[in-house]
Amino acid sequence: MFDKNCIFCRIAAGEINAAKIYEDEHCVAFRDINPQAPVHLLLVPRTHITSVDEHSKLEAESLAALLRASAHIAQQEGIKESGYRIVINSGADAGQTVFHLHLHILGGRTMNWPPG
Ligand code: AMP
Repeated sequence: MFDKNCIFCRIAAGEINAAKIYEDEHCVAFRDINPQAPVHLLLVPRTHITSVDEHSKLEAESLAALLRASAHIAQQEGIKESGYRIVINSGADAGQTVFHLHLHILGGRTMNWPPG
C-alpha cells in the first residue's frame, strides 16, 4: 500500500516535495524533475505497485482512473489539441528507474516514432 522507501509513495503522500499539478483519490501527478519535452509529467497511483508487471495488483478502477486523469491533465496543461504521448516503462530494457508504477505524459513538441 505505502512503501516508506519509495520516492513516489512519499511524493504522493506529501512527505517529499514535488511540483504537483493534479491529485484525486486514486492518483497524483507532478512535473518530471528531468523533463524530456516542454510538458513532461508523471502520474502515479497512490497505492504502491512496482510496475505493470505486478499485474496481480492492478485493479480496473485504478487503471481507468489513471487514464481519465491523463486526459484531464492533458487538457489542463494545454496539450490536448496538439497531442501527447503516454509512456509506461517496465523493467531494465525499457529504462525503468523508479519502481513505482508511473505514466509519463509528454507533450509540447512533435514525438518521434518508433521511440528510441
Ligand atoms: P522511469 O525511468 O520510467 O522509471 O522514470 C522515472 C522518472 O522519474 C524519470 O523521468 C526521472 O526524471 C523522474 N524522477 C525521479 N525522481 C523524481 C522526483 N523527485 N521528482 C520528479 N521526477 C522525478
